[in-house]
Amino acid sequence: MLAVPITRLTQLLHDVRGCSICTGLPLGPRPLLQGSATSRILIAGQAPGRRTHESGIPFDDMSGKRLRSWLGIDRETFYDAGRIAILPMGFCYPGTGKSGDLPPRKECAPAWRDRLLQAMPGIELTVLIGSYAQRWHLGARCGRSLASTVSDWERFWPDLVPLPHPSPRNVGWLQKNPHVEQELLPALRRQVQVLLR
Ligand code: SF4
Repeated sequence: MLAVPITRLTQLLHDVRGCSICTGLPLGPRPLLQGSATSRILIAGQAPGRRTHESGIPFDDMSGKRLRSWLGIDRETFYDAGRIAILPMGFCYPGTGKSGDLPPRKECAPAWRDRLLQAMPGIELTVLIGSYAQRWHLGARCGRSLASTVSDWERFWPDLVPLPHPSPRNVGWLQKNPHVEQELLPALRRQVQVLLR
């Protein structure tokens, strides 16, 4: 019987899930990510929180609920790796500091990100959640603040879409930046529907 060939991405995902590069992770390594060679939309987030670390499911929290509503999709679609990839800037829960979750571990993106992205050639839309993902994916095109990058969203359209974090704590920020809910999110929902057809 012929052996089923292991694709480059399958091997990479296997390797990432066994990764222990970072020392000092408060709950140990538990990389949370999904994706396939056919994924068309990439969610580039920050890093798992404690709750999602414990459940083992990325965006399995209030932020995820809000993100799915921003994208106009249900849970089943969101977790369909054949269509949607989820690659945070750090795959493991980094711990919590005085003002919330710590930044994604800086070891993670250089170790894995380029190779994973190269193995996902079907990505047509990358949703950049928060400043870490925006700095990595936009490079010199990133604005001086998250607000300026997000307000400039049409510059990057339709391949890259910068967003604030969907945390309920950002309700005040969204009220001060009404163009996000009035213009950016409706355009994003339409684009997501086109890509998921
Ligand atoms: S955060 Fe990334 S580099 Fe660090 S242990 Fe987890 S998967 Fe490995």
